[in-house]
Formats: sequence, C-alpha cells, structure tokens
Amino acid sequence: MNALDFSRLPVTNEADVVVCGGGTAGVFAAIACAHQGKDTLLIEQFGSLGGTATNGLVTPLMTVHIPGNPQCSYLYNQLQEKLLALGAGNKGGTAFDPLLLRYALEQMCVEAGVRLLYHTFIPEVIKEGDDVTAAVIANKAGLSLVKGKIFIDATGDGDIAVRAGAEYNKGNPETGKNQPMSLRYIIDGIDMIALGEFFSAEAQRTGVNGAASVWNNGVEMYAHCCRGNAVTLTKLFEEAIEAGDLIVEDHIYWQAFGMPGRYGSIAFNCPEFFENIDGTNPEDLSISQVKGKEAIVRQLAFYKKYMKGFEKAYIAEIAPMVGVRESREIICDHVLTAENILGKQKFEDVIAQSNYPIDIHGKQLTNRYLIEPADDGKPWYEIPFRSLIVKGIDNLLVVGRCIGAEFIAEASVRIQPTARSTGEAAGIGAALAIEAGKSIRAISGADIRAIMIEKGAKFA
Ligand SMILES: Cc1cc2nc3c(=O)[nH]c(=O)nc-3n(C[C@H](O)[C@H](O)[C@H](O)COP(=O)(O)OP(=O)(O)OC[C@H]3O[C@@H](n4cnc5c(N)ncnc54)[C@H](O)[C@@H]3O)c2cc1C
Repeated sequence: MNALDFSRLPVTNEADVVVCGGGTAGVFAAIACAHQGKDTLLIEQFGSLGGTATNGLVTPLMTVHIPGNPQCSYLYNQLQEKLLALGAGNKGGTAFDPLLLRYALEQMCVEAGVRLLYHTFIPEVIKEGDDVTAAVIANKAGLSLVKGKIFIDATGDGDIAVRAGAEYNKGNPETGKNQPMSLRYIIDGIDMIALGEFFSAEAQRTGVNGAASVWNNGVEMYAHCCRGNAVTLTKLFEEAIEAGDLIVEDHIYWQAFGMPGRYGSIAFNCPEFFENIDGTNPEDLSISQVKGKEAIVRQLAFYKKYMKGFEKAYIAEIAPMVGVRESREIICDHVLTAENILGKQKFEDVIAQSNYPIDIHGKQLTNRYLIEPADDGKPWYEIPFRSLIVKGIDNLLVVGRCIGAEFIAEASVRIQPTARSTGEAAGIGAALAIEAGKSIRAISGADIRAIMIEKGAKFA
C-alpha cells in the first residue's frame, strides 16, 4: 500500500546489508555480517540494543536442552567473554545483567564496524519485482529511504516481511490468540540474606520446600510460584489474594531471578497478561504498559508487607518494551512444523539445533511439551537455513522469534540462544550472497554452518 509514493523520499543512507531491528537476532546478524567484511547498517527504534533481552528485561538465557549445551554461534563465545569481563555474566553462560548486556552488544557492534542508526522506526518498504530495494524510515529528521542489497528482518514481529507482502501465521490456530505477553521489572535494594532466611522460615511454616532459594552468600537467587504448583510460596500468595493484596492474575505466572553483578537485585518474569495480547496492535501494547505498571506497584507492596528483605527495596526499572512471546511467524521456504520439532527432524542446511520444550503459556497452566529423547542418540531438532528465507522475496531474510515456523514450533524456537544462531547464520548468508552476486536462495546452509564452526560455533 504505497499510495503515498514513498519512493520519492530522499535517500539518506545506503549499505550492503540493512538489518532492521536491534534485538538479540538483529545484533548477531549485523556483527556476523560485518565480520564478513560487508558494510552493515543496523536500524533500531530504541536507543540501545538487545530488544526483548534488554529493553524487555528478559534474563536469563534458556539452555537448548542438548547434552553439553552446545551453542550454534561463535559470537556467543565473544559475548560471554565480554559479559564476564564486565562482571555481568555467569560462568555457565546463562545468567546476565540486561542493563550491561545493552552496553556489551553495542561495543561488539562498534568493534565490528556495524553502523548504528538508533531512534529510527521502519514503517514501510519499497519493493521492486521480487526484491526489497529500500526501507522507509521515520525519525527526528523526518521520513527518508535507506537502500540496501539485502535486508534482514529482525523486528521480532516480521514487520519488514509483512510490509513487503509476505504471508504469515499469527496466534494459536485453534483459538486465534497469541501467547500471553508480560511487562517485566527489576527491584533493587533487597537484603538477600534476610530474603533467604525468610524463604527457609516459610518452607518450615508451610511444610513445602521448593522453588524459593538464595545461595552463594546472597549473590544468587531463584524463585517461582505459578498457580497449580505446590511450592514454598504458594500459601503466601493464596493468603495475599484472600486479603485482597494480590489478584489471581498475579499468581498465574510469577518467577524471580538474581543477576550476576547486581547484588540485592531481582528480575521478575511477570506480570503476565491473557487478554489484549496482540504484540502488533499498538493499543494492546499500551494497555499492557498501563495494567503492567499497576500490577508491578501492587506486587512491590506485597513483597514489602509479606516477605522479609524488601524493607528498603525499590523499583529499579520497568521494561520500556512489553515482552511479546509470539506475534507473527513469516512463511518461509521451509516452515518448521510441530512434527519437525517433536520428531527431532535433521536438515542438510541446518544452522541451529535445540531441544527446548514447546512452552505455551496460558491462563490455566503453562503447557510444556517435553521433547522425548531421540532413539538415534541425537536428542535435538534442527532449523534449516530455508526457514529464514522469506517465501517469494529474493533478498529478504527473517531472524529471531518470527522465522518460518508454526505456532507450536515457535513456542520452542523463540528462546534467545536460537535467536542468536538464526541471526548469525543470516548475517553470514547475506554476506555470501553479496560476494557471489546471487540471490540469497542460491546460498548453501552448509557453507554458512562451516563458517560458523570455523569461527568457534559448536554444533552437537
Ligand atoms: C516475558 C518473556 C519471557 C521470556 N523468557 C525467556 C527466557 O527466560 N530465556 C530465553 O532465552 N528466552 C526467553 N524469552 C524469549 C526471548 O527472550 C525472545 O523470543 C527473544 O529475545 C526475541 O529476540 P528477537 O531478536 O527475535 O526479537 P526482539 O528482541 O524483540 O528484537 C526486535 C527488535 O526490533 C526492534 N523493532 C521492532 N520493530 C521495529 C521497527 N518496525 N522498526 C525499527 N525497530 C523495530 C525492537 O525495538 C527490538 O529491539 C522470553 C520472552 C518473553 C516475552
């Protein structure tokens, strides 16, 4: 719908590869592409990188549930070194401080020569034949065009692919609803030793010991209390609901993580929403911000009234970005199916491997379909490069949570390690296509994988 004839806008930037969106997948795509010597421009609507992982405050990294936790990414190793040097990561490579991850990713882009264009939104594209030729950008300088040879859609929602006319899936095919969204937050100023003692006392009071602990002298902590699970904090949540200090929704999904380098600080994976959950609908996103902050203030009051250790605690950050688990999945040359995932399908052009459960959140209970171990001794499924190539378009790749996948498959594919792998593979693939002067479709997934491995990626 280019009725406004955007093609007459001035061209303000040009690059070999234009990465649209600076979340987990987009940053890995941009750095990998720049490492291959290509002029790479990364466009991001906010003023920092990391997307859902940082501006959505989603920490820690899940693991791929493959023995040895191999990472199909060489950039994973480089980022891990940076986070450890900053005191913002753990040795296992899963926990991280989302605020310093913004800095670490930005520094990696600067060192790789990625050009960053922050505070810039992409509302539209220009397409000629089967190619995207330019992104329309909107920022403080007004509207203009950015031209590129290859575009990588890392918007999480497939914005670029959809504007270019790609088909997509959206939501659960049975209900039409997307996965629940969450607005995450961080609380600082917690006395972790007192909190650990409170968890132990609560376990004694209730006779239930599980899912609430502080260890390593208060440096590390983890807790969850989701409705339907009998854990240490269940009774406390029920009492607070009974007293009107919490509402039932506060208890459906509640989870808390300590973070390396942030003593006395906890990142909460909640509140979660079950209505108005279309991450591509600006009104739903706005409702989530308002309802989310109301819930966060209510939850802080609950901690202060019912737990120990929160006496001097305060809200350090509320995510500027609503946490969207699932919105659109773009139809690509291969669409990953539930059968592919549950059947642990292997592909010749594999660029990522995982065995993370199919994790569908919902109002009743979280549905987690654990993937049974494979009888061939290879307990994982694979993602082919073709699941990143947007059907019907010659120079557009899609990465991260909106790659070619059915709703059920996306519920496993969405985790950050997999988003990193898809981004890295796309960045290398785009560079190879430019070098060969060919369509992205002519590039072999095996060649991309070989470069990833040569640089230090580990495939199972
Ligand atoms: C509440 C919640 C909890 C989760 N828990 C975990 C967990 O514990 N561990 C784990 O590994 N994974 C978890 N996940 C999943 C995982 O964090 C995300 O799926 C993943 O981070 C998505 O990465 P991405 O790069 O695809 O997208 P994003 O990180 O969302 O990046 C998209 C980027 O594009 C930008 N953008 C979007 N549209 C435009 C546009 N039109 N113009 C310009 N910029 C644009 C955005 O600002 C953003 O920076 C969770 C997700 C949620 C929501």
